[in-house]
Amino acid sequence: MAKKTKGQELADKLTWSAPNIAKAAPKQVNKANKFCEGYKKFLDEGKTERECVRYAVKLLEERGYRRFDSESVYVPGDKVYYVNRGKSLIATTFGSEPLEKGVRINGAHIDSPRLDLKPMPLMEKDEFAYLKTHYYGGIRKYQWGTTPLAMHGVVAKADGTTIEISLGEKPGEPVFCVTDLLPHLGRRQNERHLGEGIRGEELNILVASLPYQDDAVKEPVKLLALEVLHEKYGITEADFCRAEIEMVPAFKASDVGLDRSMIGAYGQDDRVCAYTALMAEMEAELPAFTTVTILTDKEEIGSEGNTGLNSDYVLHYLEDLADMAGVSVRKVLRSSICLSSDVNAAYDPNYPDVYDKTNACFINRGCVLTKYTGSRGKSSSNDAGAELMARVIGMMEKSGVYWQTGEMGKVDEGGGGTIAKFVAHMDVDTVDLGVPILSMHAPFELASKLDVYNTYKAFKAFYQN
Ligand code: MN
Ligand code: MN
Repeated sequence: MAKKTKGQELADKLTWSAPNIAKAAPKQVNKANKFCEGYKKFLDEGKTERECVRYAVKLLEERGYRRFDSESVYVPGDKVYYVNRGKSLIATTFGSEPLEKGVRINGAHIDSPRLDLKPMPLMEKDEFAYLKTHYYGGIRKYQWGTTPLAMHGVVAKADGTTIEISLGEKPGEPVFCVTDLLPHLGRRQNERHLGEGIRGEELNILVASLPYQDDAVKEPVKLLALEVLHEKYGITEADFCRAEIEMVPAFKASDVGLDRSMIGAYGQDDRVCAYTALMAEMEAELPAFTTVTILTDKEEIGSEGNTGLNSDYVLHYLEDLADMAGVSVRKVLRSSICLSSDVNAAYDPNYPDVYDKTNACFINRGCVLTKYTGSRGKSSSNDAGAELMARVIGMMEKSGVYWQTGEMGKVDEGGGGTIAKFVAHMDVDTVDLGVPILSMHAPFELASKLDVYNTYKAFKAFYQN
C-alpha cells in the first residue's frame, strides 16, 4: 500500500465516520447470520405483545429464571422475571454491586403497528362478511391493502376463561386481507393523496363470502362466519367486546437479498431490540449492576395505558427491589442508566430527500445511538446529556461494538418518540440505542443482520461494564 500523505494521516487522526462492518470486520458476517436464526424464530413466535411475552418467558424459564417474588431474598447472580398483565415483561439478573449504586435498565417495546378489530367488528355488505378495524400505531394505510393477514389475540369469555386465537400462521390455515381497486378502475382513487389511498374506514378485512343456508336469515354470510368462529373457538358476536384481536401480516421472517444480508419481517420495530436485549439479559452471568430488561407494550400509541411505560409499573418494580434491599428507590433511580432501545430510520437511497445524510444512520454500520428523537425543536424528546453519551460510547468501544449516530430524518421533516422520555421522567439517565430499519412500520420491515448482531453486542457491553 502506498505511504499515506501528511493530509491523509491528519484526516485519519481528526475525522470520524462509522465504517461498513462487512468491510471493517468481514468475519462478523457469519456470526451475524448465525445469531439472526434465533431472531427470526422470535419474530415468528411473537407477532403480538402477548405472544412475545409468552415466548420470552419460555426462554427465560429454560435459562433458570424464576417468577419475581418481592417476599423472597435474592443474591447476586439470581435471575427473575415479572409479567405485567401478560403484555409487558421485566427480567432481572441481580448484580454484585449494592442496589444504591444504580441498576442498568434496557427497555425495548414488543407492540407493533397493526390493525386491531373494533369492539363490534363483524359486518355483512353485499354478500361479503368483513371485520372492521381500527389501526394501532402509525401506519401508512395504503400499505395494508392486499397483504395476507393473520388473526391473533385473546377473548376473555363471560365464564372467566380466556381463549387464545391464532389463525393464518400454520401451513394450510386460511388468511385474510383488505381488498384494493384494480388499476383499470383506479383513476379516481389515484387522485387521492397517498395518505388517503386507503382510508381508515376502508381497512375492512374480508373474512367470508358463503351464506348460511336459510332464506329467513337476514345476514347469512355474517352468520356463517360466526358459526365457523363458534365451532372453532366457542365464541359469539358479543365476545368480540371482551376481546383483543390484532390482524397482523401472515408471512414469516425471511432472509432478504442475494447475499442474505438482511432480514425482512413484520414487527421488527421493536422486537429487534427486544430479542437482542433478551439475549444480553439471559447471558448476563454475574453483572456488577443489577439488570432491568424491559419488554414493554403500548409504545406505538405513546406508551399509554398500564402496560406502557407512561405507567408506573416499572417504578413499582424498582420500588420492590429497593424495599427488598432496604434502600431508597430515589437513590437507586438517580444512579441508574437506561438504554431506551428502539429502532431508527435507516438512510434509504430510494428516498434521499428526507434524510440529512451527515446525521442519518445506515444499514450495515452497526447499532445506532440516538441522542434525541422528537419533532420540530426536539419537542417530546429526551435529549441525552454529553456525559451519558460518553459513557455509552465508552462501553461500546471497549467491547469492539460497531456503532453509529442517527437522527430521525431532516430537521422539520417529521420525527417520532420512544420510551426514553418516560424513563428519564423517573430521574434516570437515558439514551436511545437500536437498529437502523428500512420501511419502518410497513408490514414488511428490513434490518441488517450485522446491525442486529452489533446491537446485541452493545447490550452485552452495557450489562458487562
Ligand atoms: Mn419503536
Ligand atoms: Mn415504531
